Parts: sequence; structure tokens; C-alpha cells
Amino acid sequence: MDKNKKQPSQDEAEFDILICARTKDSADVLKGSIWDKCRDCQSSVWISLSGQRAMKGNKKLVPFCIECAYKKHKDSKDMEIQAAPGSLQELQRYLAGRKKH
Ligand SMILES: [Zn+2]
Repeated sequence: MDKNKKQPSQDEAEFDILICARTKDSADVLKGSIWDKCRDCQSSVWISLSGQRAMKGNKKLVPFCIECAYKKHKDSKDMEIQAAPGSLQELQRYLAGRKKH
């Protein structure tokens, strides 16, 4: 009964991943950010100005929350994850915030 389970499909390689912080995880929003939905789990995510610029320049770039980006990266090791300028800092801040528990 696994027929509804999502199979990795060939078109997965037809887009690039833009790593975004989930809105519920990130109370501290960078100015100019807009929200969108993670392509995979439909969580609301923040897209920073740098991310918005990157998406305009690369039509294949779609937003993924950090959790899904990480899972996708693990599932397909040859997939490149695009981190827009600035988004790596956002990711670091996100990860730093998580460790403080
Ligand atoms: Zn997601």
C-alpha cells in the first residue's frame, strides 16, 4: 500500500533549492522579506531580499524550508543547493538559535 508514497522523480533535478527559514521558527525577520511556501511541505517560509533577487535571476530556483532542503540534499547527493548571498548568514542564525535550548 505504498502507492501514494512520493517517489523521487526525474524532474526533481529541474529546479534549484533556495534555502528559506520557516516563518514559525523565525520571529526575527530581515527587513524586506516576503513570505512564500516551501515547495515540499507547504510551510510558510521567509524569502529575504537576497533570495528574491536570486529567484528573479534564476527561474529554476524555488523556495524550500531548511528542513526539506536538508532532507532533499541527503536524498540526492548530487543535487546542488543554491544559497543566495545572505541566506547562508540567515541559515547560520537559524542554526545558532536552535542550539540555544
Ligand atoms: Zn518544507
